[in-house]
This record gives sequence, C-alpha cells and structure tokens, in this order.
Amino acid sequence: MSKPILAVVGRPNVGKSTFFNRIIGERKAIVEDVPGVTRDRIYAETEWNGREFAIIDTGGIEASTDDPILSQMRDQAVVAMDMADLILFMVDGKEGLTTADIEVGAILRRTGKKVILVVNKIDNPSKMPDTIYDFYELGLGEPIPISSANMLNIGDLLDEIVSGFPDKDYEADEENIKLAIIGKPNVGKSSLVNALTKENRVIVSPIAGTTRDSIDTPFSFEGNDFTLIDTAGLRRRSKVYDSIEKFSVIRAIAAIERCDICILMIDAMEGITEQDKKIAGIAHEAGKGMMIVINKWDLVEKETNTMRDYERKVRAELLFASYAPILFTSVLQGRRIYDILRKAAAIQEIRMRRITTGKLNNLIEDAVMMRQPPSDKGKRLKIYYAAQIGVAPPLFSFNINSRELMHFSYARYLENRLREAYDFEGTSVKFVYNEKK
Ligand code: GDP
Ligand code: GDP
Repeated sequence: MSKPILAVVGRPNVGKSTFFNRIIGERKAIVEDVPGVTRDRIYAETEWNGREFAIIDTGGIEASTDDPILSQMRDQAVVAMDMADLILFMVDGKEGLTTADIEVGAILRRTGKKVILVVNKIDNPSKMPDTIYDFYELGLGEPIPISSANMLNIGDLLDEIVSGFPDKDYEADEENIKLAIIGKPNVGKSSLVNALTKENRVIVSPIAGTTRDSIDTPFSFEGNDFTLIDTAGLRRRSKVYDSIEKFSVIRAIAAIERCDICILMIDAMEGITEQDKKIAGIAHEAGKGMMIVINKWDLVEKETNTMRDYERKVRAELLFASYAPILFTSVLQGRRIYDILRKAAAIQEIRMRRITTGKLNNLIEDAVMMRQPPSDKGKRLKIYYAAQIGVAPPLFSFNINSRELMHFSYARYLENRLREAYDFEGTSVKFVYNEKK
C-alpha cells in the first residue's frame, strides 16, 4: 500500500523536528521495528485514526550552513511541492511573521497543493499572542495554533491533516506491480528504463502520475502488468534538482513510498555507497519489496569466484536486507535485464501470499520447542497464538504474555524459522505483539 505524503516546511528553529518526533513517537511504541537499520530522521510513517501517512521533514535535509535561510527554505518548498500530497507550513508564534515566511508563503500559495498553516509555540492557548493575526497575511487560510513542546492542539491538527489528503486510491493494486528504480546518478537507471520500454512487447503509454506531476509508465511482460514509477530526474530532469544533490535521497524516498518493489541499482565498479545503504534502509522500514541490481557487470574482470565474492561483500554491507535477491546485469549488453522483471513478479507473489493460521501456529510451536524462549526474573516468554494479519509486506501478529520478554534475538530466530519454511525472498516481514496477561 502506498501512503499519502505530508511534507513539513518551515524556517530553522520553528519546531519542525520537535513536532516530527512527537508525532512519530507514538507509533514507535506500537510497532517494533527491526533494530540495526539506520533511521532517517527526515522520514517516518505514522497513523492517525486508522489513516496511515508518511511524513517528511524537509528542514532535515542537510543544508550547508553558509546557505542563507531563505534559499534553504525555497529548496524545501520546491521539494515539498514536487512530492507531497499535502504541505504543512510551520511558523513560529513566539517570533511572529518574518520576511522569509512571507516569501515562502508566496511560493507555496502558487502550488496546486493544499497547504496547512501551523503556528507553533502557542504554549498557552488562553493567552494567544496578537502576532497570530499577522499570519493571515500569508493568504494560506486560517492558521492552526499548536504547541509541539506541550502537545497542545496536536489532535485537531492531525484531524485536519488526514482529512486534507486528496481523495485518491492509495490502496495496493494487486494486479499492477509498481517498480521504483533507485540508484546514484550514472549507474544505468535511464538505460534500463529505455531498454525495458522500447521493446515491442512493451505497451508504452505514459499516464500522468496521480498527484505528483510525475510520469509513470505502464507495460506488460510475460503476462504481468508493471508500472515504472518516474523517479523524477529520469525522464523529466529538473534543473533545480540536478543542481541540488542533497535532494536525491528525499526524491528517492517519495518514489519508494509509492512502489511495491524497490530496485536498488549499483554500479559494479563503484560498489555500495552510504547513500545506497540509506535507501535500502528506507525501503526495508517501509516494508517494500527489494532487489539489488549490480549493473555494468560487463566492466568487471571475472575469475572463478568473482560473482560469489561480490555478492558476499554486498551482503555484508546490507545485513538487514539479507532477503533481497542480488542480480548481476549489463544493461549495455542487454544481459539479464528481463530477469529483473521475472524476479519482481515472483517477489510480488510472495508478498501477497497468506499463510494459514493452522500452519503458522504449528511452525511456531515447533520453533518454541527447538529453542526455549527467553526469560527474565523467573518469568518466561509465552507465545499463545500467531496469525498473519496482513500482506505486502507479510504482517504477523503474536499474542504473548510480555513484550519485554520478546527479545530481538528471539524475534529474529522466529523470523528465520518462518523464512526457512516459507521462502520470503525479496520482502521484509513484520511482527506486531499483543500482550495478553
Ligand atoms: P526546527 O529547526 O524547526 O526543527 O526546530 P526544533 O524542533 O529543533 O525546535 C527549535 C527550538 O524550539 C527548540 O529549542 C525547541 O525546544 C523549541 N520548541 C519547539 N516546539 C516548541 C513549542 O511548542 N513551544 C516552545 N516554547 N518551544 C518549542
Ligand atoms: P542514470 O544516471 O542512472 O540514469 O544512468 P544512465 O542510464 O544515464 O547511464 C550512465 C552511463 O552508463 C551511460 O553512458 C550508459 O551508456 C552507461 N551504462 C549503462 N548501463 C551500462 C552497463 O551495463 N555497462 C556499461 N559498461 N555501461 C553502462
């Protein structure tokens, strides 16, 4: 399922990251994510009244410190307008309206997207500062006063946010496999897209992407329908983006959010970079399908074990994504590029599969018998019951006596047993725990 995206824009120090952390804090307590994955401070998924959405703190993009505030903010606004479904523009109620606010407000007003104006640091709603009225000048409607620090009026704001997302279908379309090809510049992404779409068997008719002005390309291959998500900059290169390297990650994030399967493309001569790890971590956390494509394999001098050794090196760099298949391709020579599509179709099928409750509980019982669950101060972890409650990614719920006793290593053990029994190649699996005393 792809989620609507909320982008937060605002000057430094208005309280964006405080707000961001408060909002995502609640979710962390509910769903325990696999530790060991780099958490990206600028991106998180959350939920309000059963409505899930992704949130991006555009202020968290690392800007060089000598950039004037105004140009930093313009960059934020451009990113937000390009990829968000809804924009939250945050201003500082203590400081009042500033010139930078006015400029950015003007940029945001010109976007076709809905903007929610939020005045932060209203810590005492009974003593509303007079400056709040100045914010009407921005022409962005009625400002919503909040206090991120004291969590005041946050619920009303969240109501406003979830009802503000445009009405469109964010649900997974089972029949159509959405692929995002992500990777550093020059690894061969556009070459791959061209190779896949120029063939006769490929029906190319670009359709306008839902709300983000992007162009997605649908096509069929061997009886499966695919859509290549336009990872902005592939097809319609924007001058603004090209000059701003720091946006490449955030641009990728938006594409990952919309995809079923993330194809992480690596230049064989260059290997995995920090940025690739970050991308893989985000795809993992977002519960997307993942495959790693080592391109330009034609350039690598090969001996007997070259491929095996290379694969080992990649695995060591991406331990948390050990489930992701690794493919070696040469787009230039047209080698193994269709294996990417075949693999993607297989991964999609695995992600949509459901394991019956009976089989699942037999497996868990066996696993518990083989290895005793952890205990603490005489109390031992008990697993009463498990069930698969979701697909894409496969989501398993466990009724247990104590969350504290479900140590990471034991969860990992259970996951491994699950993976041994039912090959979950190419997808993360998620666990949630219900405590029943
Ligand atoms: P960012 O640069 O926009 O991400 O701002 P931060 O979240 O880092 O906050 C900047 C400063 O404002 C910090 O010292 C926060 O503690 C403070 N701050 C954030 N929210 C509030 C609020 O609601 N009320 C008050 N009084 N201070 C806040
Ligand atoms: P993008 O920036 O990731 O979209 O990369 P491009 O598709 O523009 O490719 C960058 C360069 O790498 C171009 O000169 C391609 O011809 C070249 N290239 C792409 N795939 C391969 C490959 O498999 N082998 C070799 N040797 N070169 C490739």
